[in-house]
Amino acid sequence: MGMKLHQTGADPRLAGGRLTVDLSALVANWRDLSGRSGTAKCSAVVKADAYGLGTVHVVPALLEAGCEAFFVALPEEGIAVRRIAPKADIYILNGVHEMSAATMIEAGLIPVLNSLEQIELWSRHCLERGLRSPCAIMVDTGMNRLGLTVEEALAFRARNRAEHLVSPVLVMSHLACAEEPGHPLNRLQRESFQRVVDVFEDTESSLANSAGIFLDAGYAHDLTRPGISIFGGRPTAGAPNPMRPVVTLETRIVQVRHARKGETVSYGATQTLERDTAIAVVSVGYGDGYPRAGSGAGVALREAVPHGQHGCIGGCRVPLLGRITMDLMLFDVTDVPDGGLDDGWIELIGPNIPLDEAAAAAGTIGYELLTNLGARYERRYLQADES
Ligand SMILES: *Cc1c(COP(=O)(O)O)cnc(C)c1O
Repeated sequence: MGMKLHQTGADPRLAGGRLTVDLSALVANWRDLSGRSGTAKCSAVVKADAYGLGTVHVVPALLEAGCEAFFVALPEEGIAVRRIAPKADIYILNGVHEMSAATMIEAGLIPVLNSLEQIELWSRHCLERGLRSPCAIMVDTGMNRLGLTVEEALAFRARNRAEHLVSPVLVMSHLACAEEPGHPLNRLQRESFQRVVDVFEDTESSLANSAGIFLDAGYAHDLTRPGISIFGGRPTAGAPNPMRPVVTLETRIVQVRHARKGETVSYGATQTLERDTAIAVVSVGYGDGYPRAGSGAGVALREAVPHGQHGCIGGCRVPLLGRITMDLMLFDVTDVPDGGLDDGWIELIGPNIPLDEAAAAAGTIGYELLTNLGARYERRYLQADES
């Protein structure tokens, strides 16, 4: 079985960085999460352009794997999914407002109604058109972000039985601390949510994001909602990552220079070389969404987290030197064996530099790293070719 390659984004001959998305690994991760969801159906959360990886490439692969429900944040993201998936259930997490209701009804998008106001608004828009368009009801059980309180949800259920305001097809809540299995809020949220589920007895329910799937079977309900782990992100903090890496980010070496012990590097001269050093200058920087906070020295974060970013080339881990600049950054490649630089590209994220490790060195999370990936990369989508 060969691999099919689809190239998009910047011209590969000219780009300073290349992003490779392994769609076969992505599909394998979704199937794995679907299996771990037990009898629950498994959806895919593809907000923010599928976590920065490209809705138009990610959604067709997931559809082919059998995914039938997608969650996005905004109606325009939902419309983009609808173009690819005419029959899928498409949920809009950020809800509905006066300006968006008509568009959502026309595109057959399912709003996740987050407040009593939104329920009334959706009810009115459906009534005006003589429709009973489906919706989901979000219940806040501990995030204090979006959703009805538990008491509001219970009262709404009784009222909706009498008045048939809206037609919910899903009742849901969102976990605040699922990546910490021992956090007491997990069990409290699950118990609060159960009180709501008990009265919505003929409506499907959904609680688990990626990390929630790994807590225990009691969190799966009828529909799971993984995002980050489909894209290779670690579900549980401090535990080994069972997911396959999906994203590889590499940068082109522009120049290798040699500097002497005692010289300084990059803006602010914040790092002094402790030995004669071979420096690889590479063609990616914070202008490509590679966070400056991951600098080797000279940023506030280095006082809290001593080690900055690393790359990998020729099987060697190489530390980033000094400050990351807009379009360029520097790696210490002194220890790379002869010939090791011949490839000409340094891995920034991938099989050797896990997404979550790269994020931690920049004081952030894999989610932010992926959704900030810039527009200057060549993008390559790999897929097993079964023909
Ligand atoms: C983003 C999001 C998810 C997916 O979370 P991951 O941690 O990426 O798996 C699920 N549900 C809601 C409500 C979300 O906002």
